Amino acid sequence: MTISPDELLIDEREILELTQKLIRIPSENQPGNEKAVGEFIASWLKDKGLPIELQEVEKDRFNVISSIKRSGPALLLCGHMDTVPVPNPDEWTYDPFAGEIKDGYLFGRGSLDMKGSLACMLTAFVALKEVEEELSQDVVFLATVDEEVATKGAKKAMESSDIKRVKHGIIAEPTDLNPVIVQKGHCWLKIKTRGVAAHGALPERGVNAILKMYPILSRIQELDFGKGGHPLVSETTVNIGLIQGGVKINMVPDSCETSLDFRFPPGVASDSILGKLTTLLEELKAEDKELDAKVEIIKCSDPVEVQRDAPIVNLLLKAMDKVLGSHDERKLLGVPYYTDASALRGIPIVLLGPGEPGYAHQKDERIKISSMLPAAKIYATVPLL
Ligand SMILES: [Zn+2]
Repeated sequence: MTISPDELLIDEREILELTQKLIRIPSENQPGNEKAVGEFIASWLKDKGLPIELQEVEKDRFNVISSIKRSGPALLLCGHMDTVPVPNPDEWTYDPFAGEIKDGYLFGRGSLDMKGSLACMLTAFVALKEVEEELSQDVVFLATVDEEVATKGAKKAMESSDIKRVKHGIIAEPTDLNPVIVQKGHCWLKIKTRGVAAHGALPERGVNAILKMYPILSRIQELDFGKGGHPLVSETTVNIGLIQGGVKINMVPDSCETSLDFRFPPGVASDSILGKLTTLLEELKAEDKELDAKVEIIKCSDPVEVQRDAPIVNLLLKAMDKVLGSHDERKLLGVPYYTDASALRGIPIVLLGPGEPGYAHQKDERIKISSMLPAAKIYATVPLL
């Protein structure tokens, strides 16, 4: 690499202004109205002389794809354009769609997750265009829709010819500039119990589907769904997130449904979680002949893991040394949540972004300004190594 990170045309003021512009275009998901922010990014890239592809995902929702060079194996720089909604704007200290700056932080919905880091990536990407001849690999930029709900954008992106030539990538999720190499898998399941309706004044004539759900849920809490033993992520967890049952207070409910959110580490399979639940239901049915219960899959996705010695991990660590100064033992992390990396399956992807992840999805969401310029320089340094 003949160019040092400080020689790249990356400017903090430009990153901040771009972040503010992105925050001022709401793109809450749900409903998933990323259209205006996608149009803004596309025209911003076009103004800088970069080619753009708008890849339709569904009506009025499209990914923005751009690339430098367009031929060989490429590094992917990826971020999502949607944000979680703002359910109670009145509870915010600052207007969630203004992008105000105070005490070293930039505030707003999406400031951290992830319009701030998208701005870092966009700025890095444009700076790389200026030093195109120095690139050791092609660079593809991808801004997706729908990361916060069903990762439809990333799934669709797999069909793009530019994404097909990607050999590894970085997703700009907020990680406080720590490389994340493991993401837990998730398995969303539904348990249904059926009963027999009766008048609420005569409960003995019915079979109460809510009461039949009760022992299932308490036994689930006691079960071990697999430890996996991965050093960077915890064992399998379960959240009982939704329960619905009954029609009226004076009727015995004849149906009840519970939705469960399992998060599991490498070494545990979604099939084994499903198998343990099925066995549990069989055991309970043997104890209670009235029990009518079944389990259904809503959706499951395996954990995502990049090996510590993968080229993308080495490149990122080297880039971090160049930008942040060398460090003997930089932390590699794992996270319990899923990202677009789950949908970009088969591509070794590391998560790395500016800002403290604890502020994501919160009121008064904010990004630490001092972490943004280093993030942009790291993104730009990787394909120059
Ligand atoms: Zn995110």
